[in-house]
Amino acid sequence: MDKFEFLRKELDELKEKGTYNTIRVLESAQGPWVTINGRKMLNLCANNYLGLITNEEVKSAAIEGVKNFGVGAGAVRTIAGTLILHEELEKKLAEFKHAEAVILLQSGILANIATIPLIVQEGDLIFSDELNHASIIDGCRLSKATIVRYKHLDMDDLKAKLEDYKDYNVRKLIVTDGVFSMDGDIAPLPQIVEIAEKYGAITMVDDAHGEGVLGDHGRGIVDYFHLEGKVDIDVGTLSKAFGVIGGYVAGSKTLIEYMKQRARPFLFSTPLSPADTSALIKVVEILSRDDSLVKKLWENGNYIKEQFKSYGFNIGHSQTPITPVIIGEEKTAMEFSKMLFEEGVFAQGIVFPTVPRGTARIRVMVSAAHTKEDLDFGVSKFVEIGRKLGVIR
Ligand SMILES: *Cc1c(COP(=O)(O)O)cnc(C)c1O
Repeated sequence: MDKFEFLRKELDELKEKGTYNTIRVLESAQGPWVTINGRKMLNLCANNYLGLITNEEVKSAAIEGVKNFGVGAGAVRTIAGTLILHEELEKKLAEFKHAEAVILLQSGILANIATIPLIVQEGDLIFSDELNHASIIDGCRLSKATIVRYKHLDMDDLKAKLEDYKDYNVRKLIVTDGVFSMDGDIAPLPQIVEIAEKYGAITMVDDAHGEGVLGDHGRGIVDYFHLEGKVDIDVGTLSKAFGVIGGYVAGSKTLIEYMKQRARPFLFSTPLSPADTSALIKVVEILSRDDSLVKKLWENGNYIKEQFKSYGFNIGHSQTPITPVIIGEEKTAMEFSKMLFEEGVFAQGIVFPTVPRGTARIRVMVSAAHTKEDLDFGVSKFVEIGRKLGVIR
């Protein structure tokens, strides 16, 4: 008897519905062009916003990290796994983010899971944007607090929900993505902070797609809105624009000191390796001294948006380099993505339930490493296929 018959059934269902995920394998380094199935493809899928994954300085720093500290940390941070590299990265990140203190974690998802259950517990209230990332949702669930979802970016709704619960004398947390990855829209943090102040709520933003993208030198969404010191918890990932792996929380000295005593992924899981940590120290150094990559990313984002628009594509209302090319029908979007792939363009089709029904799309992720010629090639293929499928005229 197959004990996993119930899983096999579900897998078969996924395949029938056409939502089974075929995992693509890269045979080259992540970059503007990648090799898949032996073929060179234009890559419009990755979160490698600044092209730092293959940056020579960053690669050398990783190698230095290995030479000096080996390949692993060897214990959890609270026992013997805190290397001087971890402390240096935390200090550098705090400086970069203009925050009092930073705690390093192993990923963005773990940063959310580490933080939320320490801030709110059973009986407390979480006000969460309905489109928040899965890792925020998991952190919320782990906390056992009551989750009140408000309409996406809708500040009237957020206010109304806080008003509904204003007589509840419990801890209240408002949590939101900074940049929403499917549409590229930005949370209205100044209003969120204002509402939070009025109702005595704690504010938390997950800046995974704003890190290295928004604000001066890519310092993120808090810098972008000039809200230093006003957002209580600023979560980031080091795996997107930063190009490596890891997550962190920036906030007050008290918050970070407490997290180092109690955050479960910090206490019970081994930290980033010397190679990762050393590479990340270099990334922060590069971003601190030079904003040319961030500028180039925006230039490329704006360029491809203009191109798509000029050909009549619906590109939604992104406020960041993330460019959704909205197709509408699920089936057409899947077909579109498949045809792009056949033409040498790797761009991800995104359908329900990740986005609402009827708004299926191809999500285009440009980076600072793309040239204008790369983008022109990509757009020309979109236009060819868009006309064939009747998406544009
Ligand atoms: C990607 C992402 C994460 C997860 O980050 P990892 O470092 O890959 O775990 C968390 N939150 C948001 C909003 C993200 O987009």
